[in-house]
Amino acid sequence: MPETHEFQAEIKQLLDIVVHSLYTEKEIFVRELVSNASDALEKLRHTQLTEKEIFDDKLDLEINLTTDDKAKTLTIQDFGVGMTRDELVQNLGTIAHSGSKAFLNAIKEGGAKNDNLIGQFGVGFYSAFMVAKTVKVYSHSWKADEPGHVWTSDGSGSYTVEEAEGQRRGTKIVLELKDDCEDFATETRIKSILERYSAFVSFPVNLNGTHINTVSALWLRSKSEIKDEEYTEFYKFQAHAFDEPRMKLHFSADAPLAINSILFVPQSNTEKFGMTRAEPAVSLYCRKVLIDPSPKDLLPEWGRFLKGVVDSEDLPLNISRETMQDRALIEKLGKVITTRFLKFLADEAKNRPDDFDKFYDEFGIFLKEGAATDFTHKDALAKLLRFESSRTDKGKTTSLADYVSRMGEEQKDIYFLIGPSRDAIERGPYVEGLKARSLEVLYCFETVDDYVMRNLREFDGKTLTAADSADLKLDEHEVEGEALSKDQQDALIKWLKETLGEKVEEVKASDRLVDSPAAVLNADQFMTPHMRRMMAAMKKDGEEGAELPPVKVHLDLNPRHAIVKKLAETKDTDATKAGLIAEQLYDNAMLAAGLLEDPSAMVQRMYKLLEQV
Ligand code: ADP
Ligand code: MG
Repeated sequence: MPETHEFQAEIKQLLDIVVHSLYTEKEIFVRELVSNASDALEKLRHTQLTEKEIFDDKLDLEINLTTDDKAKTLTIQDFGVGMTRDELVQNLGTIAHSGSKAFLNAIKEGGAKNDNLIGQFGVGFYSAFMVAKTVKVYSHSWKADEPGHVWTSDGSGSYTVEEAEGQRRGTKIVLELKDDCEDFATETRIKSILERYSAFVSFPVNLNGTHINTVSALWLRSKSEIKDEEYTEFYKFQAHAFDEPRMKLHFSADAPLAINSILFVPQSNTEKFGMTRAEPAVSLYCRKVLIDPSPKDLLPEWGRFLKGVVDSEDLPLNISRETMQDRALIEKLGKVITTRFLKFLADEAKNRPDDFDKFYDEFGIFLKEGAATDFTHKDALAKLLRFESSRTDKGKTTSLADYVSRMGEEQKDIYFLIGPSRDAIERGPYVEGLKARSLEVLYCFETVDDYVMRNLREFDGKTLTAADSADLKLDEHEVEGEALSKDQQDALIKWLKETLGEKVEEVKASDRLVDSPAAVLNADQFMTPHMRRMMAAMKKDGEEGAELPPVKVHLDLNPRHAIVKKLAETKDTDATKAGLIAEQLYDNAMLAAGLLEDPSAMVQRMYKLLEQV
């Protein structure tokens, strides 16, 4: 008796989109099913290394496709690991495939019905429903004591599973084609599809009994013989991709390790579509044999946007992550590849800056992550970082090296400011003092920048310094405009310290300010304003947490500013009003620093001040 099961809700949603959207290239289902067959054979090869008893052990590791244009069916059979009943239910009825998950996330992010978006993701096995009325999956696991089964579905809400006698090991998928997809039941059509990429499949592929692929590893061939289209087809096959690669690097090395590798950078960063973190996708091979399709410790974390293959003759076939020696070898391999890739990016930045900038727009976030976390490649990564600055036009960026080349002889530090946008930074009180001294300031407005700058700490021997920090010492500077006298300044400062009390650690007159009356400087080395904002935001959503430590700031006064001069007088003539002005000045400065936590008191005070006008 066939048992009927409902698909998981996400799968129903996925199927609905797959079946109803106009996938421009329906034929990709062939690639998806053949690649699943190839994965299953790959898994069997690994299983054979460790298991003694394997069902139907004499079968060749191959993939057979059969077309039947009378019956309008296409059959794809592999002699791989197969699936047990539970595996059929689990693998084909619930969402396991990371590409499908990323796809659904992207759709949820608001891109529903966006055909472009759909074209960017693989939906794996479910792509069969683009062309088939019904899909039957006959499977027998490599485990001898499990019976064979057939899984059947028409791609609407449910599927059935039932025992099936007489199955060979592996999986046989029979597609009963939709009326408008009948040509996928013809040999010519399937042959032309397979010819494009079956060369990348590392097992024999037969169509109606004829062997059609010569297994050749693209990465072992010489670059000069490979056409661009071949790289693109390989990328699409290997990375399950639907776009054209944005960049590719094909290289080989003999020392310190024998390596042949092709790395690809895709068009877009899929992490920005949703919450799914990319999995490592540079596969590890040894002499054309796949060792690990998603090796965790080959490339550094930040390299997870890369696709491609790395093949090294120097790896043992049964390499394991557990033994120290093997781990060291993988680490060494990863280091060589990463170094080579970073050199490639540096060359791109120099020779094709426009392309590099486009790449950076999309993937710069990974380089920043690397610069902050990857000690080994930190210097090379830092050279690739780009920021807007007080010397660039809006939307244009500079490198740290270019910044350094523009530094005057006396300048020791590289200055930066963190803020929500270029405009917000330029309107704030911090840039003016540096601009007045002809010092360039980097503008950082990505969420990670605070973290990156704090971890990077220095570049080319120059300290990275936040221009809103109290530690920042600027040179004496001739400033225009008449200031309060020294005595007046001292009296005002003394009075302000009393009036503002614990709100400020220090009050001082400063020649850093030009147009603003006052600014607060962050005096907490560990708690930057940005970090404070993030922690405050987190606390709001969360339950009662520990209180944030009190804000530690210095207040800088501009002794030439009209408001400050006026305040120096008012404190002696109208203490109440002066008190209100002092607090308002402080709150305005806190607001500019992004540190004002509760603006309600400020609003009340404004009314009181307005009453006095
Ligand atoms: P992915 O291949 O990315 O995991 P798919 O949607 O293509 O996602 O396939 C889902 C799962 O179904 C696979 O992970 C695998 O476990 C199982 N599967 C699909 N085809 C086969 C097959 N021919 N042999 C064995 N298992 C398969
Ligand atoms: Mg697949």
